[in-house]
Amino acid sequence: MKNNGLKPLAVYVHIPFCEQKCRYCDFLSAKASDEVKLQYLLSLMHEINQTDGSKYIVKSIFIGGGTPSCVPAYFITKIMETLEKRFMIAVDAEISMEMNPGTVCKTSLIEYKKAGINRVSLGLQSTFDDELGKLGRIHDYKIFLNTYGIVRSVGFKNVNIDLMSSLPGQTVDRMQTSLERVTALEPEHISVYSLIVEDGTPFARMAEEGRLNLPDEDTEIEIDKLTRSFLAEKGYRRYEISNYALEDYECRHNLVYWNRGDYLGFGLGAASLIGSTRFSNTRDLKKYIGARGMSEMNIQRLTDKDAMEEFMFLGLRKVDGISENDFEKCFGKNIMDVYGDILNKQVKEGMMHHEGDRWALTEKGLDVSNVLMAEYLF
Ligand code: SF4
Repeated sequence: MKNNGLKPLAVYVHIPFCEQKCRYCDFLSAKASDEVKLQYLLSLMHEINQTDGSKYIVKSIFIGGGTPSCVPAYFITKIMETLEKRFMIAVDAEISMEMNPGTVCKTSLIEYKKAGINRVSLGLQSTFDDELGKLGRIHDYKIFLNTYGIVRSVGFKNVNIDLMSSLPGQTVDRMQTSLERVTALEPEHISVYSLIVEDGTPFARMAEEGRLNLPDEDTEIEIDKLTRSFLAEKGYRRYEISNYALEDYECRHNLVYWNRGDYLGFGLGAASLIGSTRFSNTRDLKKYIGARGMSEMNIQRLTDKDAMEEFMFLGLRKVDGISENDFEKCFGKNIMDVYGDILNKQVKEGMMHHEGDRWALTEKGLDVSNVLMAEYLF
């Protein structure tokens, strides 16, 4: 599709509500009353309505949270209608919505579809009810299967399933069973995130008290290896550290983040990047609602050095890595003059590989990507 001089844009909409807080979660989300949810919707619509979208063509929308499916379905219709009024949305735009099993029904799914949602992301996390219970999830595996069945029956053809690894008590066999069960459902996309024990969560307290029973390092390594080889065998290509997709089903929205494309975030705490400016909304719900979505923004103007660092540590999350020509186009500098020593060192260590115009972490490098990315900070 031609852009007619309009700039491509990705749009994120944050719904910060959940039915209950999972024990590991430090996302910006909480339980809320119906009245608060309604006031939030009005503020969100006001924020979108105050935006000049005339320069852009929206290539992807991601409604995330929190749990977007825990607000009434017509909220999603209203959000989409408001976005359509302010922005030109590409006919082939990827429009994703996160949903939790057990928070949707056939009627709501039909409404989401009518509103334009064409990609569903389901937070399953595990296929074992005891693991789900420990995580504090509200669903069990049977509820998930029922939800997945309805999602397919109303005609969604692009579905992601989220799984988690390194869960308390998780074994390699159990992970294998979860992967077998999930791939048997043939979703187009699978994300597998390792549990991270975040400060301030109930899991952090349990870990401190020695009550979390996390898998040891060897088991974690085995689980990661199994995940990669099992999914590859089933035709899911790993295209980012934690993301796997059937051909042509990579999440286009998330690729914008890793490629440092322009995106606008709406809603509580939502972050945006336009050119070399990062900005984000307040994380205070009362302030956000009080200011009808127009509370003060946190603005950061990136220097060239900041942007180069981001280019490296976001781009190298992708299995295809980064292009030296893109680096030169963005910054007017040869990547070797800026990062040549580090790139060559990582190649020697077997962590990086260089082919044609591209630099990408090897499998060994992806395993320790956090350490390697730090080397790109000035
Ligand atoms: S459903 Fe998701 S956002 Fe909500 S508490 Fe659980 S992990 Fe956090």
